[in-house]
Amino acid sequence: MIERDVPIAIVGAGLGGLTAALALQHAGFRPIIHEQAAVLGDVGAGISVTPNATKGLESLGLGSVLAASADTPPQQVVRDGISNVQLLVIDRRHVRDRYGAAYYMMHRADLHGMLAAAVTANDAGAIRTGQRLAAIAVDAGGCHLDFAGGSPGTAAILIAADGARSLVRTRIFGDAGARFTGHIARRVLVPAADAPALARIPGSVVWTGAEKSFVRYPVRGGQLINCVGLTRSGGWRGEGWSQSVPAADMAAEFAGWVPDVTDLIAAAPGGMVGSWGLFVRPPATRIVAGAMALIGDAAHPMLPFMGQGAATAIEDGVVLGRCFAESASVSEALARYEAARLARCQLIQAESAAGADRLQRAGPAGQRFDRSEDDLGIFDYDPATVVI
Ligand SMILES: Cc1cc2nc3c(=O)[nH]c(=O)nc-3n(C[C@H](O)[C@H](O)[C@H](O)COP(=O)(O)OP(=O)(O)OC[C@H]3O[C@@H](n4cnc5c(N)ncnc54)[C@H](O)[C@@H]3O)c2cc1C
Repeated sequence: MIERDVPIAIVGAGLGGLTAALALQHAGFRPIIHEQAAVLGDVGAGISVTPNATKGLESLGLGSVLAASADTPPQQVVRDGISNVQLLVIDRRHVRDRYGAAYYMMHRADLHGMLAAAVTANDAGAIRTGQRLAAIAVDAGGCHLDFAGGSPGTAAILIAADGARSLVRTRIFGDAGARFTGHIARRVLVPAADAPALARIPGSVVWTGAEKSFVRYPVRGGQLINCVGLTRSGGWRGEGWSQSVPAADMAAEFAGWVPDVTDLIAAAPGGMVGSWGLFVRPPATRIVAGAMALIGDAAHPMLPFMGQGAATAIEDGVVLGRCFAESASVSEALARYEAARLARCQLIQAESAAGADRLQRAGPAGQRFDRSEDDLGIFDYDPATVVI
């Protein structure tokens, strides 16, 4: 059995780091999360929490708080962005019967907030903010961490949940770094009161076209309409990975599309939308090195065409906690974690990338819907019971 007081450092308090911390706490450990942001939070956008992720969150005791704050879409519809022709309807009314857990859509900040609250309820000092990992050295004494804005520390185990730009992945795993995929995401939450009536109907609608797509779904009980436009570009000129841009830029990208889309863009609060350049890394061939493990986007950054980035980060955290709970040594726990996660995440990463070209084709007959999350069995997975 692994000593429960072994020092475990988690870098990054995103959805992956928080889930891992909660899962380790459930197994009796006392991990410390080091987060670079001065204030905890997540981006103002919606997120879909698919049944595979819901099962993991429910196993950590978050079922009721999740059900209270998330929306349950009755259906998902795909339409052509120019003609509005309906291409596909997926009935989501019986998801819990089919997969054993609900398919939710919610505000990211609500999901992030419930995870952070659960972690700090178990250990008030578990999350340290304003601590950016700046350097790392590993020797027989452990992982030595230097933080910009905090005292250095040493941990026996390091869980890197520091996102697609992971410093740990670059420094320890020798990866060249993230590359721009040519995809850009524009995101905005439109107050329902300002949205056209059709935009307020429950469930998600995706409009697709040549190298573009636009999705909208209500969150917070229909008070806000989450809108995401995915377009392509030869380069990313922003200084960082995200920035705020005039909604007029997004309107130009979707000019000539159905009014449901253009009216939502026109209703962007303050006439601004968030803009993200989407970066990935090559599929990892290992996610464990010594007493260090990568989780979430640090391990498998992916395009959002299957809505599985956070879901797989949540799966990682739950599986990692179980591996630590059920192993005799740290090396056994991490080997079991890597064996359990690598192939699944490589598959989802690859399918998410291929999903772009399947969805964003010209004309109503162009799209292909033959490899959905349902078809691939992605929702069947239960991180709380999968063999590890
Ligand atoms: C447009 C879009 C839509 C998406 N929609 C969905 C969806 O519907 N469903 C879904 O499952 N996924 C979705 N995703 C993917 C999802 O957002 C990510 O996969 C997920 O947030 C990854 O979580 P993470 O905790 O691994 O990383 P992150 O959320 O990136 O968190 C990393 C954390 O580490 C911190 N950090 C970084 N470096 C350091 C450092 N050196 N020191 C200390 N702290 C550090 C950061 O501040 C951050 O808090 C979407 C992504 C995009 C772009």
